[in-house]
Amino acid sequence: VLCYHRVEDPPRGHDADTNFVTPARFAAHLAALGAAGFSGVTIRDVLAWQRGERTLPPKPIAITFDDAYESVRRHAIPLLDGAQWPCTIYVVTGELGGTNRWDSAAPPATLLDGAALRALADAGHDVGSHTQTHVRVRGLDRATALAELRTSREQLQAVLGAPVTSLAFPYGSHDARALDAVREAGYTGAVTLKRWWNGRGTNPLRLGRIGVGGPLSAAQLRAKLLKARLTPARG
Ligand SMILES: [Zn+2]
Repeated sequence: VLCYHRVEDPPRGHDADTNFVTPARFAAHLAALGAAGFSGVTIRDVLAWQRGERTLPPKPIAITFDDAYESVRRHAIPLLDGAQWPCTIYVVTGELGGTNRWDSAAPPATLLDGAALRALADAGHDVGSHTQTHVRVRGLDRATALAELRTSREQLQAVLGAPVTSLAFPYGSHDARALDAVREAGYTGAVTLKRWWNGRGTNPLRLGRIGVGGPLSAAQLRAKLLKARLTPARG
């Protein structure tokens, strides 16, 4: 599972910011993955495969985008659709059509609104929750964690008119109590930023992801995949 954020040219001084990948770089990543025989699946597909409900194509890769930036729709979705490569987008439900104001240090960016997310879901992409307020879930008491996760899931389901199955932990932040809250809020899976390869036996509430932003060449992406391939999941 790969984790991207913004797909756009970074502003001056942010060239090495791993929240950015340029459209050209993203196109190169997608071409390299296709040439290496990988094909696209969503997190919903991965979870169904883990439960034995479906098969996956050979060499499956799930591309995910955290925060649901407008630049993803503008620059990445056309390339993905052209390659028939579905993706998973994780939404901060309290900021639909808003901005990334949880991160005052980052260059401001517009986030997708409900209508845009629904169109993406209708086109076959998977849309999941990234909490309501982009909160760090680790260390939250049970009631607070549950309120964030449940409210976010219900809001997103109302927007999409479809079930929401997975969550991406903001900052990858989670603990054992958070996993219980995720389950109790009705999600069947969650993705972290643990850099491991996911198998059928991997805890579905703790799927690993590889961050691939910044000035990462296609060759470096392949090297990262190889390294992750050799990293078994824990817990
Ligand atoms: Zn995020």
